[in-house]
Amino acid sequence: MPVLVMKFGGTSVATLDRIRRAAKRVGREVANGYDVIVIVSAMSGKTNELVGWVNETSPLYDAREYDAVVSSGENVTAGLMALTLQEMDVPARSWQGWQVPLKTTSAHSQARIEEIPTDNIMQKFDEGMRVAVVAGFQGISPEGRITTLGRGGSDTTAVAFAAAFDAERCDIYTDVDGVYTTDPRITSKARKLDKIAFEEMLELASLGAKVLQTRSVELAMRYKVRLRVLSSFEDGGDNAGTLVCDEEDIVESNVVSGVAFSRDEAKMTLISVADRPGIAAAIFTPLAEAGVNVDMIIQNISDDGRTDMTFSCPVDQVVRAQQAMAGAKERGEINFHELDADTEVAKVSVVGIGMRSHAGVASQMFRALKDENINIKVITTSEIKISVLIERKYLELAVQALHDSFGLENAA
Ligand code: ADP
Ligand code: ASP
Ligand code: MG
Repeated sequence: MPVLVMKFGGTSVATLDRIRRAAKRVGREVANGYDVIVIVSAMSGKTNELVGWVNETSPLYDAREYDAVVSSGENVTAGLMALTLQEMDVPARSWQGWQVPLKTTSAHSQARIEEIPTDNIMQKFDEGMRVAVVAGFQGISPEGRITTLGRGGSDTTAVAFAAAFDAERCDIYTDVDGVYTTDPRITSKARKLDKIAFEEMLELASLGAKVLQTRSVELAMRYKVRLRVLSSFEDGGDNAGTLVCDEEDIVESNVVSGVAFSRDEAKMTLISVADRPGIAAAIFTPLAEAGVNVDMIIQNISDDGRTDMTFSCPVDQVVRAQQAMAGAKERGEINFHELDADTEVAKVSVVGIGMRSHAGVASQMFRALKDENINIKVITTSEIKISVLIERKYLELAVQALHDSFGLENAA
């Protein structure tokens, strides 16, 4: 029988009632003739609570135990979903990641999926089981320890299962009815897109739109998974939600398709470093070794052989970055006057494949921000996106101004 993957996010399994509602949807697809793999998240808020407990117990925690704790939320919902389905007379059982086994790297808290053997679950389907409920977000390392896939990782579990089982589609059920031109919580003018290209979705996700985990979009693109995002609360019929698809399947593409943002950024400036060959390597190697995710970088014009180097990173990595730079200075690898940390910044980006063939998007973006008197601190561009760093307090205003300026309320 054809296989369908259905993933339910935290809000979609937040109560027993909602689990029942989700199970009914699964039951309908079983009645339609599918063998279904259901991927569940933890109940909403649960993972945050577990992360909080770990931090409170051990601020410099052992990542293997972090994974042991934070993966547990999904175990509960997987079991409850299987029980609910059984109550509806649908043959179902639950699987934790290690039972599949979903094999990952040993990069705890950020593991990558390496392999999903299908034989265990396939055998059960052959024996008449109709639904395999799998705990999302978790796997097992080569050392036999529980791993997790990074926040939002159940999306990636779902797409990886869809690829491994050659599923007809991977449906991501969430608390919005699709992918919007921007986070609908920021502006009521946000519009649902019927289709979005993989490349655009990849940029939006990596620039902060958390509706899909970035890695899930990468996998869907690589393995040609039909990926759909839709509401677990509304019934939208066969064409509900947003289809993430190849660029060629979109008839008319917009110059700009969406606005993404990332609220919690920091801008770090090393003041007066020697401008010599190798200085960038001397700065960014220790940052990488400390696990700092450096995003934007600018080097200023040098004056008298010295220059300022600015980079951005997530705000919760500022202390790590400061320690890495202080260590490099102590070891004599770099010399700087001061390290300035601006922790009140946010990043706003516009994304669209139409930018490849349209000039003037950057200038339009800068004008829209200027009209609101918003100062731009750092700019980066790539083929299909432009990002700027601005003061965090102007984030909502900036998103709304850009959404208006690019006419996104008319998008579909
Ligand atoms: P789940 O728990 O189902 O995985 P998430 O909270 O991870 O759900 O993702 C859904 C949320 O993503 C929405 O509630 C919405 O606020 C946010 N979001 C951000 N950007 C977008 C966007 N462009 N389109 C739709 N939702 C978005
Ligand atoms: N429960 C995990 C999280 O909150 C994984 C997920 O929901 O995708 O990050
Ligand atoms: Mg999510």
